[in-house]
Amino acid sequence: MIDKRPRLIARCADVADVIAAVNFGRDNGLLVAIRSGGHNGPGLGSVDDGLVIDLSPVKGVRVDPTAQTARVGAGCTQGDLDHATHAFGLAAPAGIISTTGIAGLTLSGGHGHLSRKYGLTIDNLIEADVVLADGTFVTASKEKNADLFWALRGGGGNFGVVTSFLFQLHPVSIVFAGPIAWDQKHARTIMQRYREFLPQAREELGLFLGLKKVLSSAPFPEDFWGKRICLLMCCYNGREEDGRKALAPLLGALPDPWFNWMGMMPYPVVQSMFDGLYPKGMQWYWRGDFVKTLPDEAIDAHLEQAGKTPSELSLMHLYPIDGAVHRVRKDQTAWNCRYATWSMVIAGIDPNPQEAGPITRWTKAYWDAVHPYDLGGAYPNFMMDDEGDARLKATYGDNYARLVTVKKKYDPANFFRVNQNIQPAA
Ligand SMILES: Cc1cc2nc3c(=O)[nH]c(=O)nc-3n(C[C@H](O)[C@H](O)[C@H](O)COP(=O)(O)OP(=O)(O)OC[C@H]3O[C@@H](n4cnc5c(N)ncnc54)[C@H](O)[C@@H]3O)c2cc1C
Repeated sequence: MIDKRPRLIARCADVADVIAAVNFGRDNGLLVAIRSGGHNGPGLGSVDDGLVIDLSPVKGVRVDPTAQTARVGAGCTQGDLDHATHAFGLAAPAGIISTTGIAGLTLSGGHGHLSRKYGLTIDNLIEADVVLADGTFVTASKEKNADLFWALRGGGGNFGVVTSFLFQLHPVSIVFAGPIAWDQKHARTIMQRYREFLPQAREELGLFLGLKKVLSSAPFPEDFWGKRICLLMCCYNGREEDGRKALAPLLGALPDPWFNWMGMMPYPVVQSMFDGLYPKGMQWYWRGDFVKTLPDEAIDAHLEQAGKTPSELSLMHLYPIDGAVHRVRKDQTAWNCRYATWSMVIAGIDPNPQEAGPITRWTKAYWDAVHPYDLGGAYPNFMMDDEGDARLKATYGDNYARLVTVKKKYDPANFFRVNQNIQPAA
């Protein structure tokens, strides 16, 4: 669905290349896009007729096992980071698909299996190296350029090109993880029990809920191909017996699942478990929202819309953003929506370009039906480019004005505007 034709792509290998590219783009009046992992839904990592500053060659992860930190090149994917830190029995909380770029994911927040215990990816960011719009290089941390550091933690690619990140790591090695799937006819009960269980569930337990179909291919059992399911994706950071104990109150209150594939596995294995389902080149249209509660009427709306999925890959996921995410004040970082319980995504996905229309229409209709029960803003990494300024303002709430102030200081001409744009004149 993304078919942009840049005039120039600067394949940067280091900071010097990024400085040269920024200066060249600015001096020649080019529209500039910043690309790291290339996973952005509306394709904001590329631009028609402009310059793409491509960070993907800026690889390399240096783990300090004593300080339990990792210095991560901006071109690294989730898989690069997990691979490097796993050797030390450590991990940084981030996303759940190994091909996602760490840079775009981090700058708008970053949530995944470890967020309930250790927070968002930005909550574990110690410092970032940045090339600004005027070509200067700065480091942002709590001590240095603190206003920029605040804005980078949630404000996206608005403030400069980040060339590397320093993350706090945590002990994560072999986890008890995997999906459990039920016939979607039980989804009402599962969603009701899940909403009651989650607030008391141990924070070591990552537990997102999905409404989707079983893909008609291996490794899924043929009997279930194409059938609608309600799925719980579990990741317990600890021993199997503790994980089973943590899940028992929920599973004991639910009917028998169609399949339960939980087992002990290295953390990078669960992190790449779904990669095969989402290869490059798919048609994608997604919409998100932050969700505080799941009243029965909202569940009804979900079930009606999930019953109309236009393709086997299309889905709705509810990712928990409670626990440690709530322990950071909403003005401590630019990421405002700390009081939500879930970050929801509805994604229409299909390999066939002719299905772009139907998956888009389904996603919008689903979102329209459940949006009245949601908080108004959405995770910027789950937004498209047709949602308008009001959505961004609702997302950043009280933090929006401060983001504008930081934007005015670091990028007054709005040089970096191929993104979920914070306009300096706003
Ligand atoms: C299959 C899939 C699974 C996902 N799973 C998760 C998940 O589990 N958790 C989660 O939080 N998100 C998830 N996401 C969303 C993901 O975080 C966003 O798509 C994000 O934009 C991807 O970052 P990227 O670097 O790959 O993207 P890119 O397309 O390369 O960049 C996206 C935008 O980020 C900014 N940007 C990128 N790199 C830099 C940089 N170095 N400096 C400054 N700005 C930069 C730019 O504004 C750019 O337009 C997923 C996305 C997909 C497609």
